[in-house]
Amino acid sequence: MNYNIAVIPGDGIGPEIVEQAIQVLDTTGKKFGFELNYTKLLMGGASIDVYGIPLTDETIEKAKASDAVLMGSIGGDARTSPWYRLEPSKRPEAGLLKLRKSLNLFANLRPAYLYRELKDACPLRDEIIGDGFDMMIMRELTGGLYFGERKTVEEKGVKKAIDTLTYDENEIRRIAKRGFDIAMKRRKKVTSVDKANVLDSSRLWRSVVEEVAKDYPEVTLEHMLVDNCAMQLVRDPKQFDVILTENMFGDILSDEASMVTGSIGMLSSASLNETGFGLYEPSHGSAPDIAGMDIANPIATILSAAMMLRFSLNLDEAADAIEAAVSQVLKDGYRTGDIMSEGCTKVGCKEMGRLIAERV
Ligand code: NAD
Repeated sequence: MNYNIAVIPGDGIGPEIVEQAIQVLDTTGKKFGFELNYTKLLMGGASIDVYGIPLTDETIEKAKASDAVLMGSIGGDARTSPWYRLEPSKRPEAGLLKLRKSLNLFANLRPAYLYRELKDACPLRDEIIGDGFDMMIMRELTGGLYFGERKTVEEKGVKKAIDTLTYDENEIRRIAKRGFDIAMKRRKKVTSVDKANVLDSSRLWRSVVEEVAKDYPEVTLEHMLVDNCAMQLVRDPKQFDVILTENMFGDILSDEASMVTGSIGMLSSASLNETGFGLYEPSHGSAPDIAGMDIANPIATILSAAMMLRFSLNLDEAADAIEAAVSQVLKDGYRTGDIMSEGCTKVGCKEMGRLIAERV
């Protein structure tokens, strides 16, 4: 079997971590009898350098024509990079927002899983961690505050910035259904997170989620205010199975959840449209502070590649093999610097990729 994969290495550590994911995918393909053809595309700062804009229409069309998109990460250091002297709509991040919207990637899945071997990297106390935790954050990705109308005006000499947060019931319904579908394959619990004590958009969110829940009688639904959720994630992360939430709350909570797992370098993500087409990328950014030093952790990208095999190409066994190889490498005591602990062997980005491919 042959599949066409659009690859966006991006900026910073993006190219080095994507290279390792491709190595692991190719090894997995040989073992399980599939072949991936890669088309490399530019986005973010790399696209600005060549085309003057962070995302071209041609790149969007090529991504659309592929079976799935694998991405590193985009962006640079906002204090020093010339990309951030451009107007906001021409900066690297604008390319990613546009791509998500153009591909209609409304459902963002971010697993936050604590590997037993990385317990030491988790900043929480042992009695809080218990046997570990395993949650899936389902974030709405194409609506809400990040896509609403925004402007800065000046009134009587005082500058005023306005951002608009809107959701309609269809946007909420489709992400809620995805959340409940995923919960059915897991521990059958959905925690819907909102700010319904203040925001109208949250009150609509809550009522639509309750409506959708009626079709999933086996799933337990609870509602939680976002401020409480931020607290509960560090007080008792084991209570969560699927966290279902809107765009900005999901952005913030998923970074918090990633931190309690020990390292942002471990966490994968998938962004899906209605048909199962998806863009797969690590949850972290382009880490310009460590770019080109061969010390980045490639595991988040490698696990994102595994999610790609599972969700877009229906190659579940191959995805399982990659995930098992990652577990095995950790059991064997190999660590990149960000997850290093006493008694383990420190390896670089390339070596970590090679060790995982070897175990596949
Ligand atoms: P970041 O995630 O890039 O880095 C935060 C910290 O985590 C840094 O110290 C970095 O060295 C470390 N880190 C991140 N990934 C790592 C890895 N794989 N291995 C080891 N250490 C790792 O976040 P930031 O510094 O806030 O952002 C840097 C740039 O990335 C910005 O331009 C930002 O806009 C962009 N960004 C892009 C995406 C994306 O492409 N989806 C997401 C978030 C941030």
